Amino acid sequence: MRPTVIAGNWKMHHGPAATREFFPEFSPELSDPEPTIGILPPAISLLAAVEARKGRPEVALGIQNIHWEHKGAYTGEHSAGMALSTGARYALVGHSERRHVFDETDDEVRQKVSAALGEGLIPVVCVGETLEERQAGRVDDVIVRQLDAAVEGLPEGAPRFLLAYEPVWAIGTGETATPADAAAAHGTLRKRMAETLGAERAAEVPILYGGSVKPSNVAEILAASDVDGVLVGGASLDAKSFAAIAEAG
Ligand code: PEP
Repeated sequence: MRPTVIAGNWKMHHGPAATREFFPEFSPELSDPEPTIGILPPAISLLAAVEARKGRPEVALGIQNIHWEHKGAYTGEHSAGMALSTGARYALVGHSERRHVFDETDDEVRQKVSAALGEGLIPVVCVGETLEERQAGRVDDVIVRQLDAAVEGLPEGAPRFLLAYEPVWAIGTGETATPADAAAAHGTLRKRMAETLGAERAAEVPILYGGSVKPSNVAEILAASDVDGVLVGGASLDAKSFAAIAEAG
């Protein structure tokens, strides 16, 4: 059975001091079985998060972006190995802000997935359509193209990864996909993974939904078919609100 995953992407919020303040205030009463909780702070706050999380094995940490090379002249970048050795377990790859604000390509996403897996980080691969693409009836085309590019060339039996379906028009806008829309997109992704990676492997990959998830709508999203968890931006910044979301997991 796939675990429920509740992940928080802090984006460019919470420096080290705010990160240290967050953890003591984040004390969800978790269900049984407990969901997997992941927090992805800015890279500069990762070490503070590692220290503040001590004694909290239920909370894993991640990095929001990696470079595909191990090291080199890439000013401002971080490698998967560096993130892993700092304490990250997950790496977000292909978030829509990386794709649309920083022009990250499908090919770069593929290289980052490969680098993360090669170093032992678990990639959380984000896919999702823009509003124009949805209105043009191209949701499946876009998310299947992004998925295929991200997993292209993965060796058989390669380590696990997670997928996050995040419609671009729902990120940070207050607009949420309906549970039926999320279920349809997740079903498309699961079916495509079965075709390309095999049914057994496809059945193991948790698919998270992301896009304006908050305490008031998380339960109905999690109840939708094929939704194995949520990736939360804005509502993960406040410890109490993220705890309420984790409690629904
Ligand atoms: C995100 O950043 O991945 C996200 C889903 O943001 P928000 O929850 O704020 O829409």
